[in-house]
Amino acid sequence: MAFTLPELPYAHDALEPHIDARTMQIHHGKHHNGYTNKLNAAIAGTEHEGKSIEELLATATDNPAIRNNGGGYYNHCLFWSVMSPTGGGAPTGDLATAIDSAFGSFDEFKAAFSKAAATRFGSGWAWLGVKEDNSLCVSSTPNQDNPLMAQADCKCTPILGIDVWEHAYYLNYQNRRGDYVANFFNVVNWEAVSKNYAAAVASSATV
Ligand code: MN
Repeated sequence: MAFTLPELPYAHDALEPHIDARTMQIHHGKHHNGYTNKLNAAIAGTEHEGKSIEELLATATDNPAIRNNGGGYYNHCLFWSVMSPTGGGAPTGDLATAIDSAFGSFDEFKAAFSKAAATRFGSGWAWLGVKEDNSLCVSSTPNQDNPLMAQADCKCTPILGIDVWEHAYYLNYQNRRGDYVANFFNVVNWEAVSKNYAAAVASSATV
């Protein structure tokens, strides 16, 4: 079955003023839709048709079309799901404990994540992920790569990601990537990130 573009879980203007409606319309309706269609074209009629996106990213990214468009498909699905108009604040519960353990404090985590986002040269993403030993790590990847791919420097299951391609912020922020990253924290859906954390820990327990 072909991959489908997910509906946004909120209106295009719901994340304003932090992320503007026009950016959301183009980013979801054009960019993410493009990755979805090109991924489907790349796998149609091949041995890869019918595989999950996670399996494709883990096993088939030696194929540049799958690497670029499969990454783009997955990364944006995660991105929309970890933002909310009622987001912001700080995580609680097990995720908060894990962040304190890995980074010292939530503020130190924010600093590390923001630095990864700011220093990714050109286009790419910054991530918070769960490693195989269930510890947390911050990393960044170029282009549409992500930490599930063999090409990643830091292999982990991403639970939070920020898109730092210029298409993600340029209409509203122009060259001010740092302001975009700072305001992203006003819309992070920590409940969703906590669920991703719990799922990543649970799946590693069954391996
Ligand atoms: Mn994007």
